[in-house]
Amino acid sequence: MTRDPRYDVLFEPVQIGPVTARNRFYQVPHCNGMGRTFPSSMARMRGVKAEGGWAVIATEQIDIHPSADITPATEGRLWSDEDIPYLARMCDAVHEHNSLALIELTHNGKYVTNAYSREVPIFVNHMPVVGTFPVQARAMDKQDIRDYRRWHLDAVKRSKKAGFDIVCCYAAHNLSLAGQFMLRRYNHRTDEYGGSLENRVRLFREIIEDAKEAVGDTMGVVVRFAVDELRGDEGMEWDKEGREIIEMLAELPDLWDVNVAEWHNDSQTSRFAEEGFQEPFIEFVKKVTTKPVVGVGRYTSADRMVSVINKGIMDMIGAARPSIADPFLPKKIEEGRIEDIRECIGCNICVSWDISTAPMRCTQNPTKGEEWRKGWHPERIEPKSTDDTVLIVGAGPAGLEAARALGQRGYDVTLADALEEPGGRVTRESKLPGLSAWARVRDYRIYQIQQMPNVMLYPASALDAAQILEFGATSVAIATGATWRRDGYGRAHQFPIPGTDGANVFTPDDIMAGTVPEGPVLVYDDDHYYMGGLIAEKLRAAGADVILVTPEVKVSAWTDQTLEQTRIQKRLIESGIDIILSHTLRVIGNRDVTLACGYTERERTVAASSVVMVTSREPVDQVYWDLVANQESLADAAITSVRRIGDCYGPATIAAAVYEGHRFARELGAGPMGDIPFRRELTALSADF
Ligand code: ADP
Ligand code: SF4
Repeated sequence: MTRDPRYDVLFEPVQIGPVTARNRFYQVPHCNGMGRTFPSSMARMRGVKAEGGWAVIATEQIDIHPSADITPATEGRLWSDEDIPYLARMCDAVHEHNSLALIELTHNGKYVTNAYSREVPIFVNHMPVVGTFPVQARAMDKQDIRDYRRWHLDAVKRSKKAGFDIVCCYAAHNLSLAGQFMLRRYNHRTDEYGGSLENRVRLFREIIEDAKEAVGDTMGVVVRFAVDELRGDEGMEWDKEGREIIEMLAELPDLWDVNVAEWHNDSQTSRFAEEGFQEPFIEFVKKVTTKPVVGVGRYTSADRMVSVINKGIMDMIGAARPSIADPFLPKKIEEGRIEDIRECIGCNICVSWDISTAPMRCTQNPTKGEEWRKGWHPERIEPKSTDDTVLIVGAGPAGLEAARALGQRGYDVTLADALEEPGGRVTRESKLPGLSAWARVRDYRIYQIQQMPNVMLYPASALDAAQILEFGATSVAIATGATWRRDGYGRAHQFPIPGTDGANVFTPDDIMAGTVPEGPVLVYDDDHYYMGGLIAEKLRAAGADVILVTPEVKVSAWTDQTLEQTRIQKRLIESGIDIILSHTLRVIGNRDVTLACGYTERERTVAASSVVMVTSREPVDQVYWDLVANQESLADAAITSVRRIGDCYGPATIAAAVYEGHRFARELGAGPMGDIPFRRELTALSADF
C-alpha cells in the first residue's frame, strides 16, 4: 500500500538542536510501571516503539538524587554511574531503529516521600509532602539550590554517557522543583528565587543553561512545561504567566514540549475529553518561539495530526497513550495502512497499573509490557504450529482478540456469537455515557478479522454443547463472558442481601439493555470501578431520581488509578445524584432500603422504589461444564482442547479479556505452560556484601 500524500508532512525531519528527528512523531515521557525495577521490560518496550516509527522515544521521569526518591513508584533513577547501564540498554534499543533517545530528568520536590533514601525532602518553602504521609519537605536554602543545580548537571552528563540524544528539563505536571518554583501559590520566597516571575523562573532557566553549556553542542536540550493548571488564577494560566514564561525563555531550549498540569488534567480519559483537547491551551506557543513545539491530546487520527501541523499548532505530534495502544502507529500511516491502526480508547488502564506500581498494560494492545518478558511483539506472531481448527464461542473482547490473533497465525477459525451485534460487553458498555470510544476495541478487531479469509464470524449463533461437539473443530475456546449478580454478593456481602429476590431489584445488564426502573432508584456500588457511577449517570440522564450508595469512602474509588475519580464524583454531584458513602445495604423493601454505617453499623432508611446491584459478576460458563462433563464425546468429536478465556474464566477488565484472548492464541500448540509463565527480572546481588 502507498501512503496518502496528504500525510507526507508527518514524515518530514525536525531539527532539535544538534540532532535530527527523522519524522514528526514524538513519544513524550511516560511512566510505565517498569522503569528501574523491570529495566529489560522497559528497554524492550521502548525499542519496539522506535521500530514502529516514533522518531523520538522518551524515558519516564528519572529522579536524579536520593532526596528525589519517588519510591514506591517504579520510575527511572539516575543517582550515580551505577544507574547508567540500564538506561544505556534503552538507548541501544532505540538507536537500533534510528530513533532518538530522550531522558526526562526530575527532582520532584514535595512530590516524593524519600521512603527508601530517608532523606528529608526539599521544596521551595516548608510544606507537607504529597498525599497524607506524615512528612514535611524543608525549604531549600542557597546551598540546596546550588546542590540541586549540581545534581541536575551531573545527571545531564550521565545521560550523555548513557547514550541519550536529548535531555529534557522538566517543569510539567507540578512534579518538578524547577516548575514548583514558578508557581505563585507555592513560592513565598523573598530571595532572588521568589517574588517576581523573573525570579521564580530563575531556577528553570539556570538548569536549562547549565545543561546547554555542558552538552548543548552534542545533545538536544528541550523542556517539558505545563502552560496551564486548569485551576484559574490560583495557578498557572496559559494566557498569563504561562505565556510570559515562554516569552522569557523562548529561544533557550531546543524544543518546547507543552501541556496542561496536573497529570489528571494532562491524561484525561475519553469519558471526559476529546482528541486534541489541549489545543486551546497550547496553540499560542508557536507564535512566541521559533523552536519546534510538541503537544499531546490522544491523537490517533492521521488527518487530525496533519491538521495541527498545517494549522501551525505544533511541529511534532506528541503521544504517550496512542504510542502504547499502537507502537506502530507512525509506520502504519507511513505505509498507507490507516485502517490497521489500533486506536487508543482513552481508558487509562495503562496509567492505572503504573499507579499500582506494576508493569503497565493496555486494553487495546495486549502485548504491552510483554515485549521482553514474554517476547510478544505487537505486530508479529508465530505462524501456526499445529493443524488445529478452532471454534471460539463468544465474540466479546476475549473471543474477538483470540480470533484475530489466531487468524494472524494462520489458523482456520470460526467465531460464533449468540447476538446479532458482536462485541459482547464492549458493545453494551460503549453505549454508556462517555464511553463511545471504547467501541474501538471491537471495531479494530472486526475490521482485522474481515480481512482474513481463514476467520469466519457468525453472529446470531448461540451454541450449546451438542452443537459444539458436532461442529468439527479440534480446539474450542469458550469466551461467553459474565453477567452481573442480583443478590449483592461481592466484597461487602457474602450472603444474599434480604430483598434482592424482589421484582424491584435490577443489575447493570438490565439497565444497559434499556430498563429504566421506577424511581427513586438506589444504585449500590460495591464494585468501585466505572460501572456504578455510569449506571447512576445513565439513569439520572433518563430522568430518574438516583441515590448512589457505596461502602467505600468515595464514589468509583478504583478510578483514582485511572485519574478519573474527582471528575466522576463532581459529575455525579452536579447531575443531582444523592451520594451516600461508607454504607452497606442491609434490607431492600418495596419502597425503602435499610443501610448501615460502615463504621458504627447504625442503620438508616432511605426511600427507594428500585435498586440496581453493582457488586460482582458470575461467569457464563455452563456450556463449558456441559462440554467437559463428557470426555468421551469430546474424544469422539476429536476435540483435543477446551479452554475458557476472558470473563467466563475470571470476570475482570476488558483489558484482561483482550489479554487472555491473545494469550490463548499465542499459546495454542505451544505445549504446556511452565510454572512461571514469563521471564523474570532478577535483582542483582551487591558484590561488596
Ligand atoms: P469477554 O469480556 O470475556 O470477551 P463478553 O461478555 O464481552 O466476554 O462477551 C461474551 C459474548 O459471548 C457475548 O457477546 C455473548 O453474546 C456471547 N455468548 C454467550 N454465550 C454464548 C453461546 N452459548 N453461544 C454463542 N455466544 C455466546
Ligand atoms: Fe489507551 Fe487505554 Fe491502552 Fe492506555 S490502556 S493506551 S488509555 S487504550
